[in-house]
Amino acid sequence: MITIKEKKFLVVGLGKSGVACARFLKERGGVVTATDGKSIDDLGEDVQKDCDLIVLSPGVPMSIEPIKEAKKIGIEVISEIELAYNFIKTPIVAITGSNGKTTTTTLVGQILKRAHKEVFVGGNIGNPLIEYIELGREAEYVVAEISSFQLEGIRSFRPRVVIMLNISPDHLDRYLSYQDYIAAKARIFLNQREGDFAILNADDSLVSEMTNSFKDVRKVYFSQKEKINKGIYLDGNSIISEIGGQKHYYGTEFFKIRGVHNIDNIMASIAAAEICGCNPGDIQDAVNSFKGLEHRLEFVEEISGVKYYNDSKATNIGAVEKSLESFEQPIILIAGGRDKGTGYESLNELVKERVKKLILIGEAKEIILKSLGSLTQSLKADTLEEAVELAWSQSSHGDVVLLSPACSSYDMFNNYEERGEAFKAIVRELKSKTDQMG
Ligand code: ADP
Repeated sequence: MITIKEKKFLVVGLGKSGVACARFLKERGGVVTATDGKSIDDLGEDVQKDCDLIVLSPGVPMSIEPIKEAKKIGIEVISEIELAYNFIKTPIVAITGSNGKTTTTTLVGQILKRAHKEVFVGGNIGNPLIEYIELGREAEYVVAEISSFQLEGIRSFRPRVVIMLNISPDHLDRYLSYQDYIAAKARIFLNQREGDFAILNADDSLVSEMTNSFKDVRKVYFSQKEKINKGIYLDGNSIISEIGGQKHYYGTEFFKIRGVHNIDNIMASIAAAEICGCNPGDIQDAVNSFKGLEHRLEFVEEISGVKYYNDSKATNIGAVEKSLESFEQPIILIAGGRDKGTGYESLNELVKERVKKLILIGEAKEIILKSLGSLTQSLKADTLEEAVELAWSQSSHGDVVLLSPACSSYDMFNNYEERGEAFKAIVRELKSKTDQMG
């Protein structure tokens, strides 16, 4: 248990969660120093002023020198979710994976609400978990989106239910190796004990391997490929859950969100909802009415028989892979942005099979061109406008134009939202121009 009164805290990084932590600690009588945007040397000075505990923001790596030094001299370094966890008495449903976290967190929250459960939805998704304590809310469940960065700084964080959606290479600009990234993700299971649940993707070998050594935790697998005893799986047009002993059938006909990956997100969400005691009727209603989130395989417009999709949030290859798998039509793919060091080779087959034209933008265009350029006709564009115009001029009736960058947006935009908004504005402008032309 963390005691706050009269203890000295250093909060590093003043994003949303850092600010919330600093405020929380101060209100409870802690002596708080907060820093943001300091050079590593300056931060070193702050760390050396004797402090009892450091709360590190997700944006600041654990591996930087001053933080390593602090740990060496016995100062504890934790993340915001660890701080919050110390004060949360409510069972937590924690959602992680390389892709699908925000979608699944939102859906679990919506199902629980539909089933009349009091719920707080937070974490990486917007409201820091610490706000739950600050607001003095008493929900039945806290549903939390958890990133690998947050998991680096946990000590006692113990979710009642974990969803591990998938693992694919990401953030290799921040981790020393892929193994380090996987190890950070696996920390979500660190403190789970008897009575807890782990909802796991049986179709993802890295996820299955990660949990081989589990003993007391109840493992609930989901799969699109095989029938799973006591798990949840896709069978034709139904999702069948055998989690509670009895079989429950969920029809997929009225789902509004498209994409093979969303079936994973939905199965994992249903599993969590059943574990939390929601009834199947409420679950089906909530899933049927879920429209999905902006910038995730979002339909924008149809122009001359060509459908345009905004998937700006696809900032890694795993997400792009799923997006490409989600269309039967020939795809004109707009990709590129800031490279994350993961390589693009795993997209080879899908690009060869499904991508009619590849249009590259941003800093990563040469790297991607080198990697995928020989597999399909590839073109470069200087701006997103130019890329969309190229896509339009190269498209024919029945194609799909898909912005799914496989890169972060920071070379050309402030964030993926801005990139997605820009894309949608350009497409809509194009639509009105072509409408005028008749
Ligand atoms: P996250 O919060 O993990 O980044 P999002 O729900 O915001 O996940 O989706 C990010 C990107 O990943 C989008 O392009 C989306 O279409 C894609 N995606 C969503 N769910 C999955 C999944 N289960 N597997 C692979 N890609 C997914």
